[in-house]
Amino acid sequence: MQQTDHLPTGQPFYQQVANEEELFVQAWKHGLPALIKGPTGCGKTRFVQYMAHKLNLPLYTVACHDDLSATDLVGRHLIGAEGTWWQDGPLTRAVREGGICYLDEVVEARQDTTVVLHPLADDRRELFIERTGETLQAPDNFMLVVSYNPGYQNLLKGMKPSTRQRFVAMRFDYPQPEQEARIVATEAGIDDRLAGQLVRLGNAIRRLENHDLEEVASTRLLIFAARMIKAGVPVRQACLACLAEPLSDDLQTVRALMDVVDVHF
Ligand code: ADP
Repeated sequence: MQQTDHLPTGQPFYQQVANEEELFVQAWKHGLPALIKGPTGCGKTRFVQYMAHKLNLPLYTVACHDDLSATDLVGRHLIGAEGTWWQDGPLTRAVREGGICYLDEVVEARQDTTVVLHPLADDRRELFIERTGETLQAPDNFMLVVSYNPGYQNLLKGMKPSTRQRFVAMRFDYPQPEQEARIVATEAGIDDRLAGQLVRLGNAIRRLENHDLEEVASTRLLIFAARMIKAGVPVRQACLACLAEPLSDDLQTVRALMDVVDVHF
């Protein structure tokens, strides 16, 4: 489990794409949880980091996986030299401190894990800690944020309709070409012309989606390729290593992707 427990430091760079910032602020002000859906590497996590910084809230990020238990989120008893002591999990800490708990790829978590979220996400805003018998009332500053890729299976099926209707849902996608080029240029420190070329390449690969690819070139992959090129790796090699190979194991598909690369460079 990846867990970041910090008060955000430097302002993360985030290029606003639509009215997501305003929606998020309103959800937070009204004590509503937020749900961000969108493909891998399109900026969901960066957005949450940016908002945590903007609202000056501690951020607890949990990368969900199928082994994640409710205990991992809520906390556990540990045994030390002086006996047994209780350690809060990231969800409990966020509730106690009044911060954001961000569950990334929440669909990956088991359903019994997400059950602890129900009373927190609905009107009660409560966290029940079974092991200690404690019930915590979430302070106004607390916000639950979950994200998932709608291309995969759907968490919302496992939630009570009354709970899931409380989420303010935002759909993210890869940004428009000019915005994405700005992101790639800024994040990788490359010039606008090269960023524009990479984004055009990325969009061409995205149009191949229905061919053999399970996933398409994300903004993240374009940034990786850009960083390699900036570091002096030849463009073709950078695109092979950062775009074609990560997207497919099938040699023919990799070759087809490299044909698209060759058209753009
Ligand atoms: P995910 O949607 O998988 O959570 P991330 O938020 O980790 O994706 O985005 C991947 C990378 O793409 C980020 O680290 C950041 O460099 C970049 N990125 C994507 N969208 C934006 C954006 N709107 N503004 C700034 N950076 C972005």
